[in-house]
Amino acid sequence: MEVVETIESSFLVNLLYLLGAVAFVWGLRLLSSPDTARKGNTYAAIGMGLAIIGALIEPVQNGGNNNYGWIAGGMIAGALIGFPAAKKIKMTAMPQMVSVFNGLGGACAMVLAIVELFQNQGTTMGLGQAAIVYFTLLIGAVSFTGSLLAFAKLDGRIKDKHVTFKGHSILNNILLLVVIGFMVFLMINGGTQGMIIGFLIVSLIYGFSFVAPIGGADMPVVISLLNSFTGLSAAAAGLIFGNQLMLVGGILVGASGTILTVLMCEAMNRSLFNVLIGGFGGGAVAAASDDGKVAKTANASDVAIQLFYSQSVMFVPGYGLAVAQAQKVVKELDDILEANGVDVKYAIHPVAGRMPGHMNVLLAEADVPYPKLLDLEDANSALPNTDLVVIVGANDVVNPAALDEPGSPIYGMPVLNVWEAKNVVVLKRSMSPGYAGIQNPLFFHDKTKMLFGDAKVSIQALVAEVKNL
Ligand code: NDP
Repeated sequence: MEVVETIESSFLVNLLYLLGAVAFVWGLRLLSSPDTARKGNTYAAIGMGLAIIGALIEPVQNGGNNNYGWIAGGMIAGALIGFPAAKKIKMTAMPQMVSVFNGLGGACAMVLAIVELFQNQGTTMGLGQAAIVYFTLLIGAVSFTGSLLAFAKLDGRIKDKHVTFKGHSILNNILLLVVIGFMVFLMINGGTQGMIIGFLIVSLIYGFSFVAPIGGADMPVVISLLNSFTGLSAAAAGLIFGNQLMLVGGILVGASGTILTVLMCEAMNRSLFNVLIGGFGGGAVAAASDDGKVAKTANASDVAIQLFYSQSVMFVPGYGLAVAQAQKVVKELDDILEANGVDVKYAIHPVAGRMPGHMNVLLAEADVPYPKLLDLEDANSALPNTDLVVIVGANDVVNPAALDEPGSPIYGMPVLNVWEAKNVVVLKRSMSPGYAGIQNPLFFHDKTKMLFGDAKVSIQALVAEVKNL
């Protein structure tokens, strides 16, 4: 009788895991388009729900201690912190929150590996098993401190220059050798609790130091790389505990994070190696350009007239659009212009904003039709035939220094060649730099006019002015 119950319950757990895995893959598939992304998220959440139910049943099936008290405590604590945090978080702080979640995923894998190592003290682990457990600990720890530093940098709490120095990459290479050497030693010889804690501390330090010199325009790459690390550590933890769904989920996160990292590197025109060893610095910012040119300003009624008489308009959204939450008013302006026969498009730079796909998410939220969004290449081809470019809170992604100033920290990054359009209007609050901390010669270009103010307020003013024409 007991055997039959165990078989039935193991069948149920496996079935739940299988359905969970299908829900993850299907959810991921739907996430590939903004139209279906919301549904994809729901499917993936259902998959995670099934995984939790399976994980709750599994210990009973194995006849072991089910620890339901601890599990309930963990779930309640997690929900009490996670739910209000996710509810309260501003859209602009979403990238920071994703970084923290990423880091906590790594921390979970790290803790699981430590528990496994402590429980196996005194017993001999096979080399393969030891390799997986130490790898989980290492990658989990690196994702943890690396993601926390990424959070602090994205949130502006830590500036790149505060945590890095010239030759930092040499220190990182030495640290990496130490970490790997230590890991191989522990794998072969086993370790005391003190040694395991020592390895943990070195791994945590390496995670911090690894991210410290990467900054400025390279942050998107490191964020997606850390994401893939978290997936790898979860997959390795799945191997340790023989949990197939954790393995599948981890592999999906690891693989998609890796693909995203490669895409981000391509978008930045940099190799991963170059990103990891290079560091971005900040330059001085001035209200006047080096050759003494002064930025020209415009008011809302000037820009409204230009908009009204243009045949083609291209909006270039950037991080400032997210800060101002201007996406819905931009769509309102777009609708009015389209009704007047103006062809309106949006140029989407792959690293605009503070997380991959940031602009796509915001514009989808405002119901901007997807075909209106042009990627970097298509936008650059369309720009010479565009009458007016309206830059809404973008800066680094339209900086010509990336093309013609070899000394610039963003030199080599492909940008939107907005100066090839007939006219350019930049909506921002001041002459302050963008994330990379460098001056933008576009603001002093002959074709450029600055419309200063919060992007939402400026666009609202443009809507009112265009309606009056
Ligand atoms: P930037 O950070 O270069 O510039 C944003 C501009 O928005 C600022 O110059 C700011 O100027 C302006 N701004 C801020 N608030 C407002 C507001 N309320 N109204 C109007 N303007 C506002 O943004 P980009 O999108 O051009 O570039 C993204 C940068 O972030 C790149 O360097 C990228 O590498 C980096 N990054 C991207 C990530 C990603 O995954 N996409 C992740 C991490 C970093 P002012 O203060 O004068 O208003």
